[in-house]
Amino acid sequence: MNKTACILCLLFLCLSVRPCVAQTNKVDSLRALLSSAPDRPTRLRLVFRIGKNLHHADSLDLYGKRLLDEGRKHREPLAAGYGERLLGDADFYRLRYESAFGHYFRADSAFKAAGEGPERLTVLSNGAYALMLLGRYGDAIEWASTQMELSESLGDTDNAGQAARSIGDCLLKQKKFREALPYFYKSLAWEKQNNPQDLCCIQLAIAYEHLQMPDSARYFYEKSLQHAQQLDIPYRIASAHQYYGMFFLNQNALDEAEKHLLAAEDLLKNKQDKLSGPGLYKGLSDLELRRNRPEAAIKWAQKALDMMQHNHQAKYWGPVHANLYQAYAALGQPEKALQHALVWKAAADSLAAADNARKVAEVEARFKTREQEAVIARQELELARQRGYLLFGLLAIALTGALAYFFWMRTRAKKREAEYRAALHEAETRRLKELDRVKSTFFANISHEFRTPLSLLISPLRELETGARTGNAKMYAIMRRNAERLLQLVNQLLDLSRLENGRLQLEPRPGNLSAALRSIAGSFESLADRKLIHFDVFVPKAPVWAAFDRDKLEKIASNLLSNAFKFTPEEGSVTLQLKPEPGPDETSLLAVIRVDDTGIGISSDQLPQIFERFYQADQQMPDAPGGSGIGLALTKELVQLHGGRIEVESEERQGSRFIVYLPLQLAAAESDQPTAGEPEPLAAENTVVATPAAPSPEASVLVVEDNADLQDYIAGLLEPRYRVFRAAD
Ligand code: ADP
Repeated sequence: MNKTACILCLLFLCLSVRPCVAQTNKVDSLRALLSSAPDRPTRLRLVFRIGKNLHHADSLDLYGKRLLDEGRKHREPLAAGYGERLLGDADFYRLRYESAFGHYFRADSAFKAAGEGPERLTVLSNGAYALMLLGRYGDAIEWASTQMELSESLGDTDNAGQAARSIGDCLLKQKKFREALPYFYKSLAWEKQNNPQDLCCIQLAIAYEHLQMPDSARYFYEKSLQHAQQLDIPYRIASAHQYYGMFFLNQNALDEAEKHLLAAEDLLKNKQDKLSGPGLYKGLSDLELRRNRPEAAIKWAQKALDMMQHNHQAKYWGPVHANLYQAYAALGQPEKALQHALVWKAAADSLAAADNARKVAEVEARFKTREQEAVIARQELELARQRGYLLFGLLAIALTGALAYFFWMRTRAKKREAEYRAALHEAETRRLKELDRVKSTFFANISHEFRTPLSLLISPLRELETGARTGNAKMYAIMRRNAERLLQLVNQLLDLSRLENGRLQLEPRPGNLSAALRSIAGSFESLADRKLIHFDVFVPKAPVWAAFDRDKLEKIASNLLSNAFKFTPEEGSVTLQLKPEPGPDETSLLAVIRVDDTGIGISSDQLPQIFERFYQADQQMPDAPGGSGIGLALTKELVQLHGGRIEVESEERQGSRFIVYLPLQLAAAESDQPTAGEPEPLAAENTVVATPAAPSPEASVLVVEDNADLQDYIAGLLEPRYRVFRAAD
């Protein structure tokens, strides 16, 4: 009987030692399929297949529980079956055969209910195997028989052969040698070529040996060795040698026995094989006892004990001590002999007790299985009955339900509409409030913006008027700068409102872009000197001929430059750069204008807002002139009017970089016409400049202006040279 147990262990090794790399690849490709699974059944099946390929108890548990939960939640027997199967495998890996079988049992019922044949086959096979390991051979035979029938009906002869072998194994365990034979022959005929024919031959040989048919036994031991050698797997060859050797030992052919046992020992020498090692060494010590060589017998027996030192329950523990008892007795050492005899007796007792316990457990388990089957049958019956009631109930409820649903839907729609209106109203109120808030901050800002330059105009004017001070160049410069600042503000506001109404149009004219930018930069030179800021201008020396709107370009560049100067402390630096890049076609170019500064920078959370109207970042220069928050908003809109874009990069305390990309049309070089590149000799908006002309006393001028002060002022300018007439309208 010990022999068959070993075969089972070998079988388990064959099943569990699989190529790991291939599995990882397979799992990966299954995972890839999972992400594009078209429907739920495919998805569940893929999850199951991934789980099956994991071969690790914890992963199997995880996948199993997930599938089982899914199956229970959606009342899908197939998913539940998948889950139970994986949970069974997990317990199998943990050597918990009892609970593994419980899972396989439920998996089998589920697959049966779902009509899933092929999956059921594996579960039946694993279940039979678990039962076999639990020593429940009768139940195992039942499961394996179902497996055999089912696989035959599915035309899966390989699986049928495997089932037949399991039945044969169980019959051997039950000492039903003759009955076992046909199953092993079936297995030899059905199982595929590379399946474990060597193991099957060993089983046949064992059966024949017990049936006292040594010639047949010898034939199959020989065959088993040949198959194992063909497979070229050392531990299988060793095992065939070991069985063959033990056979010869039983036949008292000691030389033959020694040859095979030593061959096995040679193959396993350095393997510390705890499965077959103890049996082999016990065999060798048996051999030496027969040869009357007690010392050698003790040596082998000791080796066997060394291998079992952590497992005193092992089945060879007692027999090896029996050998030692015999050997020491033969050597005339009664104390030692007695010592071993006592251990042998104790081991035999505990083995018998374990055997009894096993038998009791088998009967109990059988009873449990029947009970479980009865519970399932009862549950199915109950379910069917409930379904019947349910159908009637459903029909009755359906009508009431439909009516209720209709009314519910109507009230809900009305309620939703009311809610929607309320939300709309609230949003509108919020928007108006926000607008109000923005307006008041704007007016607060803007009034401040107007008041400062106005005070700087009015106060010095009063002083001049009262004669408290006489005018000097510095005073006039302050007044002029502040007046210009006011004018710029008003212009910006006007531009913004024109942009909003779509009334601000681009008026591109051919000109030299580099000259234009150089002249804009020039107007910041005195500011740079005054603030002790290092100002660099990198603009191509050669003219860049393009069609552009000088006024808009000036606004864009000036806004960026004045911000750069405003937010850069003394001794810092500001750079203006123009880089003409080729446009998308031959007639265009992309003007890249960059303004860099080493100023206070903008924090990353404020960066996205700076292009919003009236937005001013928290961090400001301590003594910088206040702002209105219009400059960048206007700049951005002007850039967008060109079909261009503006970018900003900035780091707090490091500086800022604004980059403008303006797509422009190329223009032919012109030299004699006034171009957009040079300042135009035209009056700036809202500024009145008298055109100098030769004095001619005969000439008359009519000034029409409704503002009396302005009328006076203009007339005053003209009167020395012309005869001036005035009209308000
Ligand atoms: P303002 O009139 O306040 O300068 P802008 O629209 O021109 O209005 O700028 C909005 C805000 O963006 C400014 O208040 C400032 O906080 C920030 N900002 C703009 N340019 C710079 C810069 N070069 N360095 C640091 N901060 C800047």
